[in-house]
Parts: sequence; C-alpha cells; structure tokens
Amino acid sequence: MFLKDILFPKFCLGCGYLGIYICPKCLKKLKPVEKDVCPYCNRPSFFGLTHPGCQKTSRLDGLVSIFYYDDFLKKVIKSIKYRLATDVWNDFCRIIKPESLHKISRFRSLSTEFFLQPIPLHPSRLKERGFNQARLIACFFQNYTGYPLADFLKRIRATAAQAQLKTGKNRYHNIIGAFKVTTPVQGKKIILIDDVATTGATIKEAARALKQAGAKAVYALVVARG
Ligand SMILES: [Zn+2]
Ligand SMILES: [Zn+2]
Repeated sequence: MFLKDILFPKFCLGCGYLGIYICPKCLKKLKPVEKDVCPYCNRPSFFGLTHPGCQKTSRLDGLVSIFYYDDFLKKVIKSIKYRLATDVWNDFCRIIKPESLHKISRFRSLSTEFFLQPIPLHPSRLKERGFNQARLIACFFQNYTGYPLADFLKRIRATAAQAQLKTGKNRYHNIIGAFKVTTPVQGKKIILIDDVATTGATIKEAARALKQAGAKAVYALVVARG
C-alpha cells in the first residue's frame, strides 16, 4: 500500500464504496454511446461523421463520444474535482470498455497520421487547477492509438465556464476567438480531445481555428457527450 492510499483513500465516485474510483455496480450505470450523431444536426451518423450536407468551411469533420453525459456521469465527473484528480482520470480512462476502444480504433481507417490535440486550458485556469484533464485523457488515448500528442493550440482568452452558460448562443459567443494556433498545421490531420462536450461549442471553435490555419482534417473524441 502506498502512503497516498492511506492519506487519500479511494472511494467510488458514484456511491462512496471504499477502495476503487468506480465500483463494479456503478460501472454498469455508465452508458456507452452506441450510435454516434453528426455534431451539427444531431442526427445519426456513422462514427459521428459530419454529414456532407452539414459540412461547411472550417467545420469539424466528426465527433466521437464514449459515454452519455447523464446525471450519473455528471456526478462522477463533478466529484473528480475534489479528489486527486490526475490519479482519478487515469483510473477512469482505464475503465473504458474494449468495445469503446474498438470504436476509437476506427480512426485508423480514416488515417494513420493523426495528431492528438487536447483542448488547452487558459494558463490562469491551468494554474488554478494544476492539470489539464483533456491532456490526461489524450495521454491515455495516445497509449492506445499510438498517435503523437500535439501542442498546436493555445487558449488566449480566459472564458467563463461553458457549463454556467445556459444557451448555445451564449456558449458560442463566450468561446469565439478563444484559441490561437501557434504551430504550423498546414495539411495536418488532428483529433481534438476533451472530457465533456454538451453543445460542442468549444470543440467547434478549436476546429475552426485549426482549419483556418490550414489543417486538412479535424475530428474530435470526447469521454462524455451531453
Ligand atoms: Zn459505486
Ligand atoms: Zn448533420
């Protein structure tokens, strides 16, 4: 047993059961996304690809989600904030089932040359939180996919937390112009990584910045979809 396990014992994030972050009973409550949808019209779409009719200049090419962001997962993700968060995210990623990982491996059929780009935090937010959860998740997917991690994007504007803004329109105005591409991305294929996408406004804005800088394709992969 490690000292940190004595000082910070593990409790199930769903029910408080001692010794594990997600107990087997709560694991069953997580609902994997079986049918992905187009990120722009929310109608079914194979692998979450943007329908050709929904594709316009500088849009995301597709969004793949692993779990539904239901009340249970909201509780889990919220309670992660109060734990040793880096540890918890590492454990949480480990419980992603092989079927979902199989889904992620479909990216290989699109290209073998993707870069994984975590949605960056603004430096002030990063300092406050101490880590970027999107980066931890991207590290997990890197081990699984073998795609390199990228650092093409910076967050140049501190924005209000998207979750506190009620409407999609507010979320869009909050995030517009928040990202800057700081490394040449001409012709590159990129998968954006984040923990949660509800309206997807943050991811879409990041995709817009990358495409306008010349990225060839921009997909997104999120742990939870609202
Ligand atoms: Zn539990
Ligand atoms: Zn569509």
